[in-house]
Amino acid sequence: MSNQDWLNRSLAAVWHPCTQMKLHETGALPLVPVARGQGPWLYDFEGRRYLDAISSWWVNLFGHANPRLNAAIKAQLDQLEHVILAGFTHAPVVELSERLSALTGGALGHCFYASDGSSAVEIALKMSFHSWRNHDRPEKNRFLCLAGSYHGETLGTLSVSDVALYKEVYAPLLRQAVPVLSPDARQAAAGETAADCARRAAAALEAVLAAQHETIAALIVEPLVQGAGGMIMYDPEYLRLARGLCDRYQVHLIADEIMVGFGRTGTLFAHEQAGIRPDFLCLSKGLTGGYLPLSVVLTTDEVYAAFHDDAITRGFLHSHSYTGNPLACRVALATLDIFVEDAVLERNRRFGERLTARLVPLANHPQARHFRRRGMIWAVDIATDDPDFRLRFYRAALQRELLLRPLGTTVYFMPPYILNDEETALLADGAAAALDAALA
Ligand code: PMP
Repeated sequence: MSNQDWLNRSLAAVWHPCTQMKLHETGALPLVPVARGQGPWLYDFEGRRYLDAISSWWVNLFGHANPRLNAAIKAQLDQLEHVILAGFTHAPVVELSERLSALTGGALGHCFYASDGSSAVEIALKMSFHSWRNHDRPEKNRFLCLAGSYHGETLGTLSVSDVALYKEVYAPLLRQAVPVLSPDARQAAAGETAADCARRAAAALEAVLAAQHETIAALIVEPLVQGAGGMIMYDPEYLRLARGLCDRYQVHLIADEIMVGFGRTGTLFAHEQAGIRPDFLCLSKGLTGGYLPLSVVLTTDEVYAAFHDDAITRGFLHSHSYTGNPLACRVALATLDIFVEDAVLERNRRFGERLTARLVPLANHPQARHFRRRGMIWAVDIATDDPDFRLRFYRAALQRELLLRPLGTTVYFMPPYILNDEETALLADGAAAALDAALA
């Protein structure tokens, strides 16, 4: 079968995500058939290759077809592929829960599983509300989110998101959260630091909390980097201040680390950089090294205790069929092993400096604004009025063997943690060339 055969069949039968399908049919947006993956590379059916510089929607950490992760799944497959997690338990889910809890210093002692990021956020929102309700405070049933936030595509997660492109159409279906000022470091006036922006946003948060805390269950944030909103980066000071305010006003802090967890921001979890712990921690994506759909919400023993009761409906009755899937938990454990065995966070620090140095020409491009980096995430805004910039850049990058999908006019890089020097050079030089081509 050729590339074209697969394209024809895909367009006839598959409704692709996050896509105006007509763009594929007119050819404005190429559809790329993938036969196999190896390391950071994706190969089509005719031998063309693409460097997966966005880690396949921010999930992949250690490359495609990673031998260690493959081996973990194969071994588990012969033991137990899946079992209901209500009334039953199994080794991978117990071991993973213990390991994850230990990675929060034991502060978040219980793990509740689901299959994707959006479901994890839904769980955190429901748990937060339900725990207040169990404390006889049912009026605490609203949420605060940051301006420009993104927490998923389901109705509950859209209601705490603030990206018009995904949300506006569905506004009549949503119970809108209250957006508060983002600590976006790009808002710094001359002479101001990112920490000043953080303090200003925390002051705005305090004003909302002071007036409304009695009806607010939780503040939900993407710690340090607001992803789909445009790779908005901010100072850890905001998280430190927000934690203090949430404590003062008795509001939960939900950290959605679905994108930023597992080393993306330089530390294993982003909230560590603020020296705080959230009340709820949502993880997915890199949790399984990008292999299998798994998500988890970790929470405190205090929240857990609020559900402990003789009344069934004071328990948390949420469920998904594939909750705690053993194959997914096993590959998550193998992913955590790689972090330890390969000292990944340290290796990333060295890699991060190399790629940043290589990106200097892109950062200095006359139309580049606010070049920024946090750990293993790089972003730059491109000053252009061209409404087709995103598509032009995407096509120009593909022509240079790069998978890069700008968010509007923001070009960003989120590569797997395994690029060699040659691949790093190809990424940096190819992106600069793609930018020139897209703007020409
Ligand atoms: N939260 C954040 C911060 C995300 O980046 C995403 C996915 N991009 C989600 C939630 C939703 O995860 P999923 O797509 O797995 O539902």
